[in-house]
Amino acid sequence: MNQIVIIGAGPTGLTLAMLLAKRGINVKLIEASNSFRRIFRGEALMPSGLKAISQMGLSDVVQNIPHRCFDAWEFYIENRPIFRVDEPMELGGQPCMLISQPAFLETVLEKANECEQFEFIQGTAVRDLLWQDDRVSGVKLSDGREIAADLVIGADGRNSIVRQQANLALTQAAQSFDILWFKLPTSPDFTENIFYSILRDRDGFGVFQSSEGNLQVGWSLDRDHPIEWQKIDWAEKLASASPDWLATHFRQQKDFIERPLLLSIVVGRCPQWHVPGLLLLGDAAHPMSPIRAQGINMALRDAIVATNHLVPLLQQQPNLAAIDAVLPQIQAEREPEIIQIQRLQAAEVSQGELMKNNPLLRYAVSFLAPLIGSIIKKSWLDRQLQLRQGVTCVDLKVKQ
Ligand SMILES: Cc1cc2nc3c(=O)[nH]c(=O)nc-3n(C[C@H](O)[C@H](O)[C@H](O)COP(=O)(O)OP(=O)(O)OC[C@H]3O[C@@H](n4cnc5c(N)ncnc54)[C@H](O)[C@@H]3O)c2cc1C
Repeated sequence: MNQIVIIGAGPTGLTLAMLLAKRGINVKLIEASNSFRRIFRGEALMPSGLKAISQMGLSDVVQNIPHRCFDAWEFYIENRPIFRVDEPMELGGQPCMLISQPAFLETVLEKANECEQFEFIQGTAVRDLLWQDDRVSGVKLSDGREIAADLVIGADGRNSIVRQQANLALTQAAQSFDILWFKLPTSPDFTENIFYSILRDRDGFGVFQSSEGNLQVGWSLDRDHPIEWQKIDWAEKLASASPDWLATHFRQQKDFIERPLLLSIVVGRCPQWHVPGLLLLGDAAHPMSPIRAQGINMALRDAIVATNHLVPLLQQQPNLAAIDAVLPQIQAEREPEIIQIQRLQAAEVSQGELMKNNPLLRYAVSFLAPLIGSIIKKSWLDRQLQLRQGVTCVDLKVKQ
């Protein structure tokens, strides 16, 4: 039986490992960190990701871990409400849901561990690829161990070392922002779970209640207008950009706002996701912007498409050339959706930048919102259908 080695136990690598192992494929999964409970893990899932989870047989997992649905999305410019969209949106599908990603990954790992074909190597990073006759033949770990593979799958995220070692170029999109990510306590006054998008002057941020019950802030840091964010009084900064009721909460929580974590945003796509013996998936192949919560959804859909292609082939114990031949087919099936979703994310960013860079436009929109809010809302909604439901048809076809 062929041996598959997957690098990275994020949403891509772990769900793919579980899907393959449950279908009788030998999988070794290697994860650098010792715990899934690192500070930052995105947690919003769109209907496309929830459908993928259901097809993977993991809906019960979501019900048994911390989760909560969004009730609505609200947009504020210059402290004035622009529009609100309730969940579930009239576009159809389930409401967008927040799940605890560490709890999700831990439970998927338990499911994978039920399979004797599955082995998890945790707490050791992959440092190098092994090559034989111009084909990737395995990986070398940071502790010196070498692990042979008939196929290596790089699911090691946006700064993928596998991608670099395989010399697969990443075409980066121009992104003009990074994210400061931090938490603070919520309040019983937040009876609905609303994703607020707030813009005042050049300050823009999103705030929502996370699956674990605190308020989560994602503050957009403009690379063209750097600030000394480490020295900022964040309670005051957030309050001054917010409508009054939210400003009061930020000031009350002054002593409980966590220190921000800087997350450098990498967005882009590899023109080629594979070399003989190796395939990239998830953020390693196409690092996703955090805008409108797409990356986990795309990761889960990558895992399904890879499973559809790999399982029927691997069950026939193919030769290495046959494995290599299927890799371009996986890229070809996933790439159109990734291209379109990244385009839509870029359109959301451009609209935000247009507002940030044009004070007159900001004031006009905020004053005229009662008249033109519904037009702006419609143009926003027009982009959301594909961002919520995906672009291509992705269904798990191979049964356990
Ligand atoms: C601020 C921010 C917020 C976001 N919020 C959301 C959201 O709400 N919803 C959403 O859908 N997407 C969100 N995203 C995007 C999402 O986080 C990613 O697209 C998604 O995690 C990609 O999954 P992945 O499994 O491909 O990679 P990752 O989740 O990055 O997982 C990669 C794994 O590989 C491991 N690894 C790395 N290097 C090695 C190595 N050398 N050896 C072994 N293991 C290694 C890492 O430890 C990690 O566990 C957000 C992104 C950002 C930056």
